[in-house]
Amino acid sequence: VATMADREIQNVLDEALDAFAGLEEGANADYIPALAEVDPDIFGIALVTPDGRVFTAGDVEAEVSIQSISKVFTMALVMEEQGVSFAPEGVGVDATGQVFNSIVAVEQHRGAEMNPMVNAGAIATTSRVSGASRDEIWRRILDFHARFAGRKLAVNEPVYESEAATNQRNQAIGRLMYAYGHIEVDPDRATDIYTEQCSINVNARDLAIMAGTLANAGLNPVTGETVMTAENVPEVLAIMATAGLYDDAGKWLYRTGLPAKSGVGGGIVAVSPGNFGLAAIAPPLDPAGNSVKAQAAIDYISQKLGGNPYEVE
Ligand code: GLU
Repeated sequence: VATMADREIQNVLDEALDAFAGLEEGANADYIPALAEVDPDIFGIALVTPDGRVFTAGDVEAEVSIQSISKVFTMALVMEEQGVSFAPEGVGVDATGQVFNSIVAVEQHRGAEMNPMVNAGAIATTSRVSGASRDEIWRRILDFHARFAGRKLAVNEPVYESEAATNQRNQAIGRLMYAYGHIEVDPDRATDIYTEQCSINVNARDLAIMAGTLANAGLNPVTGETVMTAENVPEVLAIMATAGLYDDAGKWLYRTGLPAKSGVGGGIVAVSPGNFGLAAIAPPLDPAGNSVKAQAAIDYISQKLGGNPYEVE
């Protein structure tokens, strides 16, 4: 998109908004009770280029909880602290072939061979963030997300409370990972911090800037701040590609070629390296747990803008 005029890019976003706003399939996630209450008609799209241009369409101010998209950024934080090898050598980087909150997957390899994009691997990843106290660990995670977004972010307290009251399954996963030695701190605290990180509120613009920072080798193209080491970015993107869209990660990669991550709040971020960061938010999810409209919009826009990194001109 480096050579495209602003007008052309904006038109593509507007077309996507028009084309997919009417899609009726899907339903809000409801296993976290507060998510069922979110306005299902929210539809926001945003794209950020490495030279810092920001394009938006639709409800770009509307905030939803980041949910699983936070797995990407907390993983990036641990890579900054411990090096990228914590993933292949510790948590694992293969897709589990099971649902994102599978206990069977944990059992299969006694907690090894998880992936930071599924709950067991994500809780283990969160458990590795450094800090002398819960508060210090939490501040580091929130601050890291905020630097990617380029603004101060806050937690959606009702979503956090709702999930904290109903996340017994994640608590079980955290404890199993502890039992198998893949979490070395209090697993309940790790799960609690993970739950809070999933409750960070973001809008489509925030998510696009976060994705745009990854597309720009770790330098936030809007604030100009270097948020993470450029050398660690390819590993982040590779892990997103392995398991970013739940059980449909393969279908997604086949269709778009884009490393991406979705969350049950309805957001999806996608990265075309060196080209753009793209995000969309729309709460109704398909059976795999991915936003119906966000997938359609990102796929459409990326195709129009030549975003597939496997396509050589
Ligand atoms: N906090 C959610 C959970 O652990 C995140 C799920 C998701 O977005 O995939 O169930």
